[in-house]
Amino acid sequence: MTIDLNTLVQKYDTPLYLYNFDDVAKRYRELKGAFEGHKSLISYAVKANSNLAVVRHLAQMGAGADCVSIGEVRRALAAGVERYKIIFSGVGKRDDEIKEALEKEILMLNLESEAEMKRVEQIARELGKEARISIRVNPNIDPKTHPYISTGLHENKFGVEINIAKRMYIYAKKSEYLNPIGIHFHIGSQLTELDPIKEATGIVADLVRSLVAIDIDIKFFDVGGGLGVVYKDETTIHPQSYADVIFEATKGLDVTLICEPGRYMLANAGYLVTRVLYEKKNAGKRFVIVDAAMNDLIRPSLYDVYHKIEAVKKSEENSKESTPADVVGPICESGDFFGKNIDLPPLMHDDLLVIHSAGAYGFTMSSNYNTRGRAAEVAISEGEDYCIRKRESFEDQIALELACDNSWQKK
Ligand SMILES: *Cc1c(COP(=O)(O)O)cnc(C)c1O
Repeated sequence: MTIDLNTLVQKYDTPLYLYNFDDVAKRYRELKGAFEGHKSLISYAVKANSNLAVVRHLAQMGAGADCVSIGEVRRALAAGVERYKIIFSGVGKRDDEIKEALEKEILMLNLESEAEMKRVEQIARELGKEARISIRVNPNIDPKTHPYISTGLHENKFGVEINIAKRMYIYAKKSEYLNPIGIHFHIGSQLTELDPIKEATGIVADLVRSLVAIDIDIKFFDVGGGLGVVYKDETTIHPQSYADVIFEATKGLDVTLICEPGRYMLANAGYLVTRVLYEKKNAGKRFVIVDAAMNDLIRPSLYDVYHKIEAVKKSEENSKESTPADVVGPICESGDFFGKNIDLPPLMHDDLLVIHSAGAYGFTMSSNYNTRGRAAEVAISEGEDYCIRKRESFEDQIALELACDNSWQKK
């Protein structure tokens, strides 16, 4: 980024999330371009970063939205995503969420169990509507990623087995209130190998062929999200190789291909900027204590993953030697760290550190733990900065507590 971080920090303070919208656009166009010549929809996984400005930015380029709660569906609509590009997934949808999704006439509800299908049918009947549905198939493929973000094995809670899916499609086809138009799978996140994708796509494509043979017309073939990104030194999948593998596996099927990237769109376009508070040594071990914490970015604590951390160098310090340090936040947990044994130059109070690859599953997984307000979010586009979420104040945090009548105090 050519932007001057010191100026931005003066304006917005720290901790601060920065998103390079030009990078997001580049990534969107590269992936969309890979599907050229085929009917396709890039349905952005809103949970990765659900800021309205982010979703709007993607919607303006033509993206749809993959949502996992009615809140996300509302966000997508509020951000201007066309309703016929919105998919509602998730293993546990409430009745009111199903009802609202049907009323809003989104593209489809992605179903994850027979019990859910019966609920959707019942609610559609009450509304006198036909529910457009897809079914999430669990192809039992090991995605070779972190177990917490692996979703495509039978031991995971997601989707249904092939045989159950088939039974569901036959039921849905007969139902007056269900219209099975799509099929879906999502084997995991941070995928860096093509083989599991190829295998899963092949299995699901075969299922579609067998459905077409019994006159069940699947129009949307949704391969889920999961495209991996570089955090450290991973070799990632090129979007064109990804698309080519999908083309090959779905050959002969007349379907619109959907993919649902979240991390791929945002992770490397986002940065968490934090200020150094203190340095200290415990038994010779160097700690750099910063003003961001695990409540701002929980990924290192939750998944023990690597995020590149860089000091914003002042020119006179360029020559100083770096030594390894643990970069930690102020929260009362030993798990509150951003990096261990990170080489950093000597740092002073108020020096800035930039934590890279923080654009996805960063802000959206943030919390108020330790009564810390959530960070501000800023978009950078063509060299200009735009506030897209104000820093959360103490008053914001307690507002809902004050909003109750607090009658227990009068007892
Ligand atoms: C989380 C999720 C995605 C996005 O995953 P990424 O790894 O961020 O691309 C897509 N589809 C579904 C159903 C998901 O649950």
